[in-house]
Amino acid sequence: MTHSVHTTASAARRTLPDDGLTGRAGRARREPMAVRALRDDTYLVDTEHDSYVVDLDARSCECPDHTIRHARCKHLRRVAMEVNEGLVPPPGERDGVCAVCGDPIFVPVGPGSYLCGAHRPARGEFVRDRESGSLLLVTRVTTERADERETEDGTLIADYESNREYGGHEPVVEAVYVGRAEAADGRLNVAGQRRYSFPASRLRRVPADVTPNLPVVGV
Ligand SMILES: [Zn+2]
Ligand SMILES: [Zn+2]
Repeated sequence: MTHSVHTTASAARRTLPDDGLTGRAGRARREPMAVRALRDDTYLVDTEHDSYVVDLDARSCECPDHTIRHARCKHLRRVAMEVNEGLVPPPGERDGVCAVCGDPIFVPVGPGSYLCGAHRPARGEFVRDRESGSLLLVTRVTTERADERETEDGTLIADYESNREYGGHEPVVEAVYVGRAEAADGRLNVAGQRRYSFPASRLRRVPADVTPNLPVVGV
């Protein structure tokens, strides 16, 4: 029952650190296998003898241990382990890269532009505009590219002169100018403030210890 998926060069088979498990769970870690996410949310598991397709959501595998003995086979277990350990993307995600640094990250299947943890600001985080030096507060991190997203007057974010130095493929980050927000009752209120859109790398993240020590409302 060899599956006939022999596509391009498969990844090298590897083992996972032995954590003392026995039975199928132990073999799932110790036996050399290569796991690769396929486009349809299934995984191709390449062992020394055979290749099988595992469907994690359906909890199925093509191997005899599963199809005949209905066991939770070592291939199924191995895929679950690799997903849990961040070695392969979970169902619904694929291999991608951070739009700013190019580091590999898992991203949702489908179009969109994404950032790694180091380059993705949080909603409500203070950032500084590299062009004007202004302090801003992030209100939303989108997955729309700067060369695809338009402002109200129909201009692409990436086409603004001040955005030329930043990647058009980067996701748009929305932010408000802190200087225009009202400080009242010891709080900074940004409700109703106009949201401006920027390519992600134009906004530099600011260390928390040098940001205004004011609670923010209205983000
Ligand atoms: Zn199996
Ligand atoms: Zn990055």
